[in-house]
Amino acid sequence: MTTIPPASELGTHSVANQPAPRMARDLWQEDQPLRDAVAAAGGRAADLATTGVVLGSASMLQAAEDARRDPPRLHLFDRTGQRLDEVRFNAGYHQVMQTAAAQGYATCAWDGQPGGHVTHAAQVYMLSQVEPGCCCPLTMTYAAVPALAANPALERIWRPRLASGVYDPSIRPVEAKAGATLGMAMTEKQGGSDVRANTTRAEPDGEVYRLTGHKWFCSAPMSDGFLTLGYAPGGLTCFLVPRWLEGQRNAIRLQRLKVKLGNVANASSEIEYDGALAYPLGGEGQGVRTIIEMVHHTRLDTAMAPAGLMRAALAEAHWWVSGRSAFQRRLIDQPLMRTVLADLALDAEGALAVGMYVARAFDRDDEGARALARIGVALAKYLSNKRCVTVIGEAMEVLGGMGYVEETPMPMLYREAPLNGIWEGSGNVICLDILRTLARDPLAGAALAQVLDGARGQDRGFDAALEAHRARWPGLPEEAQARWFAESLALLLTAVALMEMSSGPVAQDYIRTRLGGERGILPGAVAGLQTDHILDRLGRREGASFDRDT
Ligand SMILES: Cc1cc2nc3c(=O)[nH]c(=O)nc-3n(C[C@H](O)[C@H](O)[C@H](O)COP(=O)(O)OP(=O)(O)OC[C@H]3O[C@@H](n4cnc5c(N)ncnc54)[C@H](O)[C@@H]3O)c2cc1C
Repeated sequence: MTTIPPASELGTHSVANQPAPRMARDLWQEDQPLRDAVAAAGGRAADLATTGVVLGSASMLQAAEDARRDPPRLHLFDRTGQRLDEVRFNAGYHQVMQTAAAQGYATCAWDGQPGGHVTHAAQVYMLSQVEPGCCCPLTMTYAAVPALAANPALERIWRPRLASGVYDPSIRPVEAKAGATLGMAMTEKQGGSDVRANTTRAEPDGEVYRLTGHKWFCSAPMSDGFLTLGYAPGGLTCFLVPRWLEGQRNAIRLQRLKVKLGNVANASSEIEYDGALAYPLGGEGQGVRTIIEMVHHTRLDTAMAPAGLMRAALAEAHWWVSGRSAFQRRLIDQPLMRTVLADLALDAEGALAVGMYVARAFDRDDEGARALARIGVALAKYLSNKRCVTVIGEAMEVLGGMGYVEETPMPMLYREAPLNGIWEGSGNVICLDILRTLARDPLAGAALAQVLDGARGQDRGFDAALEAHRARWPGLPEEAQARWFAESLALLLTAVALMEMSSGPVAQDYIRTRLGGERGILPGAVAGLQTDHILDRLGRREGASFDRDT
């Protein structure tokens, strides 16, 4: 128990009962749930052990802070008035990008070794804890790789550079670079979810096309190229638009950078194509089918990132209450605080486990696994992002007033919390997608049913919840119930993932409180959680050192 000296012994500037800032950390070794999930899902533990040390190092934390403190700036023209259309970044941004790329963030899924997507997913989880803005450009680079298969000639040029692990921000045509990044520009002013409302035009020009139009959101505009959609004579088509051509800039005009709630290290821009040269990826009219390959993979990352954000917030909250006392007792020893933290930790463990469960399906090369990945990634993305906002808001409150102060990571995490839920299919859109997938893709429904049925017999609460779900929805629900239906299915899938990939007590408590309804509506409104066990998995408790780490 921390002893607070009487006021008479404190000078005016003495500091007591303030936990030291949490400095460098080992994002792998200190995270039991992550190690369990990666082992169960078949990820590359040895590589991730290195990544955990590198991404959690003091120099990486400093670089991440620098990248956010000094956000990207737009440089439209040079001194003479020539167009530049460049974005300049703080050195910290480049350091984070270079380090994460070298750890294999965008590449390990494509090197042909087992467990690549699980390993990638674990890297998303870890990098989200340190600098979430840098996830976006690396995620798009990872996810663009499978879409390139639609044009083998382009794939030959781009794939080795995307999958090189080399971060090369220099301004040159891709052929002259050892490493490259790709972005994605789909969203237009009149519609983001509804890409068929695009107005960008693509005029054939020999083997290539010329694009004219405006994209309302284009993150990472310093990428070497962008996958984009435009209307060719044969319908909505996917294109690769390189940023640099031999000897000149492509006609992609940056208009302005968005001023955003968070994700500030990542530049998000508005762009105009002014007759920009574009290579077709797939045939005319096949645009959605082609880009969906990319979206499928970015969705995996938007399902994993909230797990990382929740982990970061809860690890910070746990650290804080382990070093802070109120009413003569350490906060971590107070029963109500323990219940609140343990309840929040169940959501974080659930998000991690279901993300890893789905990532493993990405790694498997059979029809059933691919079908499970199609439906599972949407369920995981929906539930985990919805929990993320609540969990981080509550974790902020655990730090009391200091949770609202920018010197702690909580405000940054709070600003990040809603973002992964918005992009790659916002809440309603993802729930309607789940209904569509189940209606049109019988393999996906069958794969999900097999997984749910296969988990029967381990936990009576789970069995009852599955039966109740099927009794309530013998078929697909009407559209207005899509959220309720998706939530119910996502909770069931998360429970399956926890039963396999986490500990027994975590899975039991998750099922009892999330599927069995033994709780109120708000976080912490539960009884009988196995708090010692859950909190031991969250972080160090007894004998924790609050000295600055190395
Ligand atoms: C920081 C940031 C970076 C981004 N970067 C990129 C990028 O690099 N490239 C890119 O292409 N885009 C990018 N986006 C855009 C993002 O992907 C879109 O904003 C998102 O897809 C939603 O599209 P929208 O904004 O047009 O919303 P809308 O499509 O107008 O949707 C608005 C709301 O209506 C709901 N809705 C839509 N249809 C239905 C329906 N049928 N029934 C019920 N509800 C419905 C949606 O769920 C949403 O909540 C970025 C966005 C942000 C915030």
